[in-house]
Amino acid sequence: MAKNIYVLIDHAQGEIRGGSLETLAWGQQIAAQGGGQVQALVLSGPDQNPAQEIASSAQASAVISVQDERLADYDPDSYAGALKAVLQEDQPDLLLMAHIYQNIDLAPKVAVAVQGALVTDCIGHRQDEQGLIFIRQMFRNKLNADVRTGSGHLAIATLQAGAVSKDELEAGESPLEKRQVDLSQVPQRRVSLEKVGAGKGQVDLTKAEVIVGVGRGIKKEENLEMVRELAEILGAEIGASRPVVDNDWLERERQIGSSGQNVSPKLYISVGISGAIQHIVGMKGSNTIVAINNDPNAPIFNIATYGIVGDLFEIVPALTEKLREG
Ligand code: FAD
Repeated sequence: MAKNIYVLIDHAQGEIRGGSLETLAWGQQIAAQGGGQVQALVLSGPDQNPAQEIASSAQASAVISVQDERLADYDPDSYAGALKAVLQEDQPDLLLMAHIYQNIDLAPKVAVAVQGALVTDCIGHRQDEQGLIFIRQMFRNKLNADVRTGSGHLAIATLQAGAVSKDELEAGESPLEKRQVDLSQVPQRRVSLEKVGAGKGQVDLTKAEVIVGVGRGIKKEENLEMVRELAEILGAEIGASRPVVDNDWLERERQIGSSGQNVSPKLYISVGISGAIQHIVGMKGSNTIVAINNDPNAPIFNIATYGIVGDLFEIVPALTEKLREG
C-alpha cells in the first residue's frame, strides 16, 4: 500500500493549476483508502506563494515548499533536480502529478533520476490485497489497462485532466514546511527567452446557449460547411475538438475541453466526436447533449442525452433540412 504520497502542485507564475487540485484530491482518496498520508509539494520562485495558498485551503499532512530563483518558471533541469533532492531525502512511496504538457516533459526525467516506475495518463485506481493498481486507457480509450508497479521503489503516476473532480478535494488547513535544496550543481541546459501571450479572439463560447461541436469525424475542412449550415439554422456557435483545431480547420478559441474552453450551453450537438475525457470535461455541464457518431461504442454516448448512431454526412444535412422545414 502507498503509505506516503506526495502530490506535485503546478502553477503558472504562482497561480495554481486546476489539474493539481484534481491530483491532490486523487492523492487524498488513495491515502484514505490505503491508510496513508498525503503531502503537497510545491516548487516556486522566492516571490511566489502557491504553497501558502494550498496550506490554507487543502487537507494534507504537510505542504512542502521549495523556493529558488530557478524554480520561478518551469525548467526541466531545475525542477527535476529539486524533485530528486526532496524525493531522495524523504523516500515517499508515490508521487502524483497532473497529466499536463509540463509534466509529460518532467515525469520521465524524474522517474529516471530516482530510478522510479512511471505510469502516465491514469484515469483512476483501485486497491487489492497486494496494493495499488493504476487504471489507464488504451487504444483510443476503447480499453482500460490495469497497471501495477513493482515494489521497493518510488512509483510516479500522472492523472488525466477531469478524471477526478477538484470539487472532491477535501478542504482544510495544512502545516507549511519550507525546504532548501541546492541547485548549484544542477546544470541548466535550457533557457526560456520570452513568453508571448496568445491574442484574445472574437468568439466567446462560454456564453453560447447552443453549440454544435465538431470532431475529427468531419474528415476535412471543406466538410465543415454542412456544420455551419446546421449551426446557422439553430443560431448556434461552432465548437471543436482538438484535432479539428490542430489541423487549423477552426480557430483555437473554438476548442472545447481541458486545454480549451469549458462550456455549458442549453444544447450541445456533438458531430463526429469520440468523447475523450479531455473533451468531455469541457462540455459535460451542457443541459442537453445530442451525439452523432457512427460508432455505437463511442464514449460520447455515455454522457449523451440523445444518441444518434449513424453517418454524420447523412444525418447533419437531414437534420438541417428538417429544422428548415420546421
Ligand atoms: P477522434 O477521437 O478521432 O474521434 C472521431 C470520431 O468520429 C470517432 O468516434 C468516429 O467514430 C467518429 N466518426 C468518424 N467518421 C464518422 C462519420 N462519418 N459519421 C459519424 N461519426 C464519425 N481534445 C479536445 O477535444 N479538447 C481538449 O481540450 C483536449 N485537450 C487535450 C489535452 C491533452 C494533454 C491531451 C493529451 C489531449 C487533449 N485532447 C483534447 C485530445 C483528446 O485526447 C482526443 O484526442 C480528442 O478529443 C479526439 O478528438 P475527436 O473526438 O474529434 O477525434
